Amino acid sequence: MFKLFKSLLDALFPRLCPICGKPSDRPERTICWDCFSSIDLYRESLCERCGRFAEGEIKHAFTCSVCLSMPPLFDKARAAGRFSFELRDLVHQLKYGGATWLASDLADFLEGCVTAHFPSKKIDVVLPVPLHPLRLRERTYNQASLLAEELAKRLDRRFDNCSLIRIRQTETQTHFNAKERRKNMNGAFSVIRPEWIQKRTVLLVDDVMTTGSTFDACAYALKKAGARTVWAVALARGQ
Ligand SMILES: [Zn+2]
Ligand SMILES: [Zn+2]
Repeated sequence: MFKLFKSLLDALFPRLCPICGKPSDRPERTICWDCFSSIDLYRESLCERCGRFAEGEIKHAFTCSVCLSMPPLFDKARAAGRFSFELRDLVHQLKYGGATWLASDLADFLEGCVTAHFPSKKIDVVLPVPLHPLRLRERTYNQASLLAEELAKRLDRRFDNCSLIRIRQTETQTHFNAKERRKNMNGAFSVIRPEWIQKRTVLLVDDVMTTGSTFDACAYALKKAGARTVWAVALARGQ
């Protein structure tokens, strides 16, 4: 009955692909097959640790110079694709345009990225990178939280939206070097329910990662609270 209702709704109000504007041919998704498969995803030449993409084809495992000079506090991070063109546009629509319905489409990329790079059965809990409460009030929703919830459902893992909190807004970091960034972010996050984190393998979720310093700061708080392993996944990478 529900299915019938859904297809009736689809017939009356076709889901239009946010990229090409044509009605979507993917069941229960907004992005059409053509556009979905045209998005450029990272496949190889990635730093083992932080997932940074190296130009040129590198077939062997490597660790990038950034991770070598200052090893990140998370154990491993990956992003599904580059923060450009369609992916950037989709993230903007989700983040600033109120297009919360895009979360299931975008979770497809996250799900693919997690299953390609992590033994997902080992994940105990999925956590979003939290927004500061003041920012959350202003924006009304946390896009990372929408993505994390959807991803947790797909992976059949526990979703935890409240153990990790942001206690400090941080100033923009573009002019900081790696050490200054870490210092600036230190103490920006805190774990209020350590018993839900202790000895667990945690998967952090965010929409965009750039240098990885936000994941790093979250990992600092999570490890301090007793998390065993901290993995991180973002939809897109800005660097
Ligand atoms: Zn399309
Ligand atoms: Zn690296």
